[in-house]
Amino acid sequence: MAFIGNSMSFLEKIKNVILDLIFPRECIGCGTEGSYLCGDCQRKIKINRNFYCVVCKKPTHLPRICEDCGKEYRLKAVFVAADYNDKALHDLIHLLKYKFIEEASSGLGEIVINYLEQNKIFQNFDFGPDNTVFVPVPLHRKRFLNRGFNQSDLIANHLSEFYKIPKKVLISRIRNTQSQVELKKSERRENVRDAFILSADKSFDKNKKIILVDDVVTTGSTLNECAKVFLKEGFVDVYGLVVAQRED
Ligand SMILES: [Zn+2]
Ligand SMILES: [Zn+2]
Repeated sequence: MAFIGNSMSFLEKIKNVILDLIFPRECIGCGTEGSYLCGDCQRKIKINRNFYCVVCKKPTHLPRICEDCGKEYRLKAVFVAADYNDKALHDLIHLLKYKFIEEASSGLGEIVINYLEQNKIFQNFDFGPDNTVFVPVPLHRKRFLNRGFNQSDLIANHLSEFYKIPKKVLISRIRNTQSQVELKKSERRENVRDAFILSADKSFDKNKKIILVDDVVTTGSTLNECAKVFLKEGFVDVYGLVVAQRED
């Protein structure tokens, strides 16, 4: 066992050396060596302090889906941490999703935590270790194997560690849907319809508040489909939490 343990860490080291050669660890904001996003540049990323309905973009007092959109979108609210148009944030998301740099997830996790803390979201919505569960939006198996990790799962791990709130993979994606980015607004809803199922055993406590974690939200269709799985099972409080919202 010791041999396996050592060889694994040796492989890890090789992986890091290779990664450093291909993508040197330098800040995407200012180029300083050492990390993909330095502390100074992270602090410059503007955290959202104003709230709005993610479906129609109407301003709201607290984060929530407005009454009109709530007829179709059954999530109580989608929390959006920062602005996708912020260049450093955009680049960090890109490193994670398309350059497969897992480490970028910790910077994104910190940005989400800053948002939750600055806006006292956990106090306002009564989220806590005893009544809340983080659920990452799953990738289809094929996409997971291709990327080697689920970026939403990595972000959820950081949140779970910080808040001591359990992260559970309770749903899975049964259809390998086309990327939502490539589709028109009207096609997106159809694209993800019934793409998710509950993968956990049904005895799970339905009084728990579910916070679906994803990296980016666009129209909210994916989060809404995930939410529908839980609502069908009798859960009532389902929320979304994302790093940023991409424009349609
Ligand atoms: Zn920097
Ligand atoms: Zn709305």
